[in-house]
Amino acid sequence: MSELERLAHLSAAGDGAVPVLRLRGVRKEFRGTAVLDGLDLDVPEHGVVVLIGASGSGKSTLLRCANLLEPIDDGSIHLDGEHITDPRVNPDRVRRRIGMVFQSFNLFPHMSVLDNVTLAPRRVHRRERAEAAERARELLDRVGLAAKADEYPDRLSGGQQQRAAIVRALVNSPRLLLLDEITSALDPELVGEVLDLVRGLREDGMTMLLATHEMGFARQVADTVCFLEGGRILEQGPPGQVLGDPEQPRTRRFLQRII
Ligand code: ADP
Ligand code: MG
Repeated sequence: MSELERLAHLSAAGDGAVPVLRLRGVRKEFRGTAVLDGLDLDVPEHGVVVLIGASGSGKSTLLRCANLLEPIDDGSIHLDGEHITDPRVNPDRVRRRIGMVFQSFNLFPHMSVLDNVTLAPRRVHRRERAEAAERARELLDRVGLAAKADEYPDRLSGGQQQRAAIVRALVNSPRLLLLDEITSALDPELVGEVLDLVRGLREDGMTMLLATHEMGFARQVADTVCFLEGGRILEQGPPGQVLGDPEQPRTRRFLQRII
């Protein structure tokens, strides 16, 4: 979609539309210490929300809670208006609607790229196997990996492996993509090709919540940047404001340290 269409969608989302992801008062403790301390966050449809903050500020925990990989201790998480932290909800059914990509690519070394990316749908909906393979090949083609479909991961560069991991997250047509520091384990010369792919997904209107240390990238892709500290969002707003002219002295100090 065009930038204008995307912005129109986003401003409509501000007028009472249900966000794709909504966190309210989310609390997560590890051994009695709050890592997320009553956190509120909305990710509107087609929106790109970027989490920044020092190591240990809770970015990964937030993403893992959103995908129900960690139970929360208080508050609620809604996906498309459905209360997914309700204990009666089946987490597998929720995770099918969310794609997640981690810092380490997590591809299975003993499977071809194609088998890696079709793994989830193959296990989840057996009857749709052929469709999944077709969609996977189409997506691999789109990210420039068509020729690698039948290779094993160790024949791919780090950037290619991470692009394959992104394809795996996309193959179920998720409503939301969660990306956790997906360029941190890459050699610097391979970062660009992965970030280009994320920029393309943004242009397609994919709703994303991501954590990154790459402030230049955050500035380019974010609609909203959230600065996390002590398990709370200390400051949030458009990237130009939060990264360029932060209100909070602590955000300012963080940015001075990192840049
Ligand atoms: P970030 O991704 O911003 O670096 P994390 O979410 O990984 O931060 O970690 C936030 C805090 O939670 C850190 O203090 C970390 O040590 C702690 N933490 C994360 N996961 C666990 C866990 N499984 N058990 C205990 N403590 C954890
Ligand atoms: Mg992390």
